[in-house]
Amino acid sequence: MIKIERIPPPPELTEDITKELREKYEQDGTSVWNKGYIKRDLLTMSSNKCSYCECLVNEESKYMEVEHFYPKNDYPDLVIEWSNLLPSCKRCNVNKLDYDPNVEPIINPCDIDPKEHLGMRLYRLIGKDNIGKNTIDILYLNEMERLVLPRFLIGNQTQDSLDDILNKITMYQQGVTNGTRNRNIIVNGFKNLLKQGMPDKEYAATVSTVLLNDCKYSECKDLLIQLNLWDDELIELEITLSNVKLETL
Ligand SMILES: [Zn+2]
Repeated sequence: MIKIERIPPPPELTEDITKELREKYEQDGTSVWNKGYIKRDLLTMSSNKCSYCECLVNEESKYMEVEHFYPKNDYPDLVIEWSNLLPSCKRCNVNKLDYDPNVEPIINPCDIDPKEHLGMRLYRLIGKDNIGKNTIDILYLNEMERLVLPRFLIGNQTQDSLDDILNKITMYQQGVTNGTRNRNIIVNGFKNLLKQGMPDKEYAATVSTVLLNDCKYSECKDLLIQLNLWDDELIELEITLSNVKLETL
């Protein structure tokens, strides 16, 4: 889970329309939130990811659902309130069901930075405090097959790519390879690897955590600095990774 910046409501969701839809829900319980423009802007806001587990939800197998952070049954006034809507995968939406965060808080990633309350250990999320622990339990964020395994697979792939790029940088530094073409292959290869942990990528929290905690990352960075190849773009990418990564516990 990573911090999500809430974007303004869709222009179609005017005050009048909001009122009209809320009244319709109160009258007959219609799923008034199931609007194309609402789903479109929620997906834009989260880069097509579930706001809780970070799986991609634009794939055919994982339809995005409109999640009401404060459940619509208990808070009908908020049924179409933009600040109460989050994009979610079916798995997370089913687990949260009609849980009321006012009873015992859970993380709303639009309001709270999850990394303040969640850490990671061996691809499992660890609650650093009560709200972190409660969030993991309510959303079942350490489900083995659906979440821990995908995190492991993408983390393992990240480490394989890191091994590969470290070999290439070492060979270049030792003069085994040389020239503009090889230099571009290693610099762009390393940048592409760092880009896999950017906030718009699936499982960004996992990838950024794995990357920055791997000693081979530091070795690559040291070599690139020695070679005068650690440029402004790499500095920016590393800052963003640091903002997304979780503490390892
Ligand atoms: Zn999810």
